[in-house]
Amino acid sequence: MRIDLHTHSRVSDGTDTPTELVHAARAAGLGVVALTDHDATDGWAEAAAAAREVGIGLVPGLELSTHYHGRGVHLLGYLHDPTYAPLRAEIDRILGGRDARVAHMVAKLNESGVAVTVDDVRAESTDAVSTGRPHVADALVKLGVVADRDEAFEHYLSWGRPAFVGRYASELVQTIRSVSEAGGVAVIAHPWGRSGEASRLREEDFAALQAAGLTGLEVDHQDHSPAMRADLRAIATNLGLVVTGSSDYHGLGKKGHDLGVNTTAPDQFALLLERAAASAAASGRRTPEAVLPR
Ligand code: AMP
Ligand code: ZN
Ligand code: FE
Ligand code: FE
Repeated sequence: MRIDLHTHSRVSDGTDTPTELVHAARAAGLGVVALTDHDATDGWAEAAAAAREVGIGLVPGLELSTHYHGRGVHLLGYLHDPTYAPLRAEIDRILGGRDARVAHMVAKLNESGVAVTVDDVRAESTDAVSTGRPHVADALVKLGVVADRDEAFEHYLSWGRPAFVGRYASELVQTIRSVSEAGGVAVIAHPWGRSGEASRLREEDFAALQAAGLTGLEVDHQDHSPAMRADLRAIATNLGLVVTGSSDYHGLGKKGHDLGVNTTAPDQFALLLERAAASAAASGRRTPEAVLPR
């Protein structure tokens, strides 16, 4: 059974609808897929219905934008109650920040001589609850300013480039606690992706986060070299954290992230579900069910 626990749909910055994504997951031979849009759970119901129809498993999740001692950290949350008010309030704050950022990025692009408008960007994010830089990139592609998202990031949108704008993110420890209180489990996404060696989270950081309720580490991800994966796996094993692997699929929006390019071992998935069931029971919240594969 091939299990992929990190994907994005058009509800955030992927290019598939949740239904298309589930169909693509089945076509790719996956038995279980998790939908983890950035800061949004709005695709859950559609994805679950599609998964029941095609007979594969579906884990409802999301990828939260957080920060920890000055670093940006992406946190995957799975199987929590999406109506839990403190988490809901944080997500609304993040989404507000994402929305407000669009006009700032457009203004910076205009200053750089690129004639793009907020409406051009909105036209690329009509299905998205969570707007992001990839939608700005898509607008630039449409205008013929760049060839693809990669080029848009490279020239304009990445940190240090002329149209980069930061945005609000939640504090990591508090967010891990909130996901637990909401009856779910939290896994750090691509923990060493893109960060320089000096600013990487270390074993003692992961131990501290585990004490706050962290359940796992996404070890197998395209942003990690084989050496990084080996080191992270050793840390996870040492601490008793669940090891996951995933594609971080964005449809056509991100190259080299095809569905199933990395997967989660069945025993680790079983452990994740076990810990999610324990978290749900301890929380007293009404949590969603994973769709199980037929
Ligand atoms: P944001 O959440 O708005 O800050 O945008 C970050 C998103 O942009 C992440 O989900 C990445 O997957 C995506 N991203 C970052 N770099 C690139 C790139 N070079 N090409 C396509 N997508 C990218
Ligand atoms: Zn993304
Ligand atoms: Fe991420
Ligand atoms: Fe992601």
